[in-house]
Amino acid sequence: MATMKALVYHGARDLRYEDVPRPEPKSEEVLVRMKAVSICGSDLSGYKGGNPMRVPPLIMGHEFSGEIAALGKGVTGMKVGDRVGVVTNLFCKTCEDCKNDLDNVCDNRYIIGTTMAAGSYDGAMAEYVVAPAEKIMPLSDQVSFNEAALAEPLSISLRGTKHAGDVKGKTVAVFGAGPIGLLAVACMKNAGAKNIVAIDIVDQRLNMAKEMGATHIINSNEDVYKFTRELTNGVGVDCVFDAAGVEPTINTGIEIVRNGGKIIMVGMASAKINIELKHAICKEVKFLGSYMYTTEMKEGLDVISTGAVDVKKIITSEYPLSEGPRIFEELAGGNTSDIKVILTNNL
Ligand SMILES: [Zn+2]
Ligand SMILES: [Zn+2]
Repeated sequence: MATMKALVYHGARDLRYEDVPRPEPKSEEVLVRMKAVSICGSDLSGYKGGNPMRVPPLIMGHEFSGEIAALGKGVTGMKVGDRVGVVTNLFCKTCEDCKNDLDNVCDNRYIIGTTMAAGSYDGAMAEYVVAPAEKIMPLSDQVSFNEAALAEPLSISLRGTKHAGDVKGKTVAVFGAGPIGLLAVACMKNAGAKNIVAIDIVDQRLNMAKEMGATHIINSNEDVYKFTRELTNGVGVDCVFDAAGVEPTINTGIEIVRNGGKIIMVGMASAKINIELKHAICKEVKFLGSYMYTTEMKEGLDVISTGAVDVKKIITSEYPLSEGPRIFEELAGGNTSDIKVILTNNL
């Protein structure tokens, strides 16, 4: 049996670069030779052992791109060597959610590189990964492998931005300048927002937010309420994009949003929080949860391709896959200024 190198997650803080059987594409499937895979915050929480969506043994990696290495039976319209991105949400197509364009919350779905109720599906932190042919997205020449790997997180920010509705000429606040928040800043800019206020506790990340299109940045230690009221003639921001999801950001969001404004909830760092419910209701705040993506990955690749959103700015490091165990250990230590780390396949 042919083998390949992979980063296998064996349990909390136990990630090994080792030989595993090389997967074979079944009918209607494609074998992709990984070229770039990005480390997600959810992979890191999995590594630390605190994520039920990462059950060992598992090959993680759901933000990736590569080249087609082999075609399973019945696959047409693509060929070996094609440069591709991959939609990692493998939904069932038949449940009520899937039939209502909510395949992002399908209970029967697999997600490449994760463990769902349906089971585990090995991901792209390996030389090769198998995906259904219908999930393959051809890459235009303008899109690099590194950029294509970021189409997945970008699609999450794109979906949240869509929930905000028409933001043209409006003032939005983005909490959390990690990858999703930074990409949300770029999406809001692309959607025509006039003022984009990025809020985070780390100044270095705020500087990155400025590069991604934030018109204003403010450290959460400062008076965010006063700052946003002054910016909006005392009215409040039209929309809050919360990419953090902790008690202080949600409650500050309720404070700074205008009456009748929207809070888009994407971040979920805390599973359970106390919110100023009465205050939120009396302001008619509209809370909108936004989870993963449905059709947004295609749109993400399009805006990368036209240059409307420059995702590569947030890539701060790139290492070969073989260094994965050391890189995960370092990132899990928390003592890092990295924003997005890419692992590449140089074998
Ligand atoms: Zn992710
Ligand atoms: Zn379904």
